Amino acid sequence: MVLFVGNTSFVVLLVINICVVKYITGAALQDFSEKNTIIGIPGEGRHLAIKAYPAIENYQSDVYEVFVEPYGFDIRPQVAIAVLTSEGEGSVGGEVVFVQKHPPNGPIFIRGNITGLAAGKHGLHIQQAGDLREGCEKLGGHFNPYFLRHGGPKSPHRHIGDLGNIEAKEDGLAEIVRIDPLMSLSGGPRGIVGRALVVTEGEDDLGLGGNANSYIDGNSGKPLACGIIAYIR
Ligand SMILES: [Zn+2]
Repeated sequence: MVLFVGNTSFVVLLVINICVVKYITGAALQDFSEKNTIIGIPGEGRHLAIKAYPAIENYQSDVYEVFVEPYGFDIRPQVAIAVLTSEGEGSVGGEVVFVQKHPPNGPIFIRGNITGLAAGKHGLHIQQAGDLREGCEKLGGHFNPYFLRHGGPKSPHRHIGDLGNIEAKEDGLAEIVRIDPLMSLSGGPRGIVGRALVVTEGEDDLGLGGNANSYIDGNSGKPLACGIIAYIR
């Protein structure tokens, strides 16, 4: 089990052992929550909010985020954009806008156009890093703060960075209209700003490909274009 703790001044990732898991799950977790206070670390006396992720219907995750309220994040609406440019000599490009009206936990509305693609499906992912000094090649794996395996946007197990596929028409244009429940534009463990958005050559098998690489990147192939997700204004 992975437990994330955030407060007004810091975000700490705690990987806790099985004994602590037993203490914090089930009835113990309920007691912890109802006390409404946190003890022994900065933020003592503040209210707690505990949420399980991924928040998918009929799926009980063993990953929890524990927030000390008030949140240590900017809770005003946030808008970010990724301007994608082609890897190498390619002609793939586009703009994708991310809007989160209620950070850090509200859904993200994703809208954009990507042009210059071969007709068909292409993977769309957020990578761990946003360092474009070597193009789209050195961006780490898919953004995966919960150490889960690769999947699709609606899989119970997925990387936060898994946006599945986009589909280009014969004219090379792919339109993106999505709502994602897991990403965040605020700081914190699910924050995507400063990371890279990447469109790939092949189709993403969403973790269903039946081989080891399917659990890593969905066999989606080389990056065609990438851009850093950055705040607007
Ligand atoms: Zn992935």
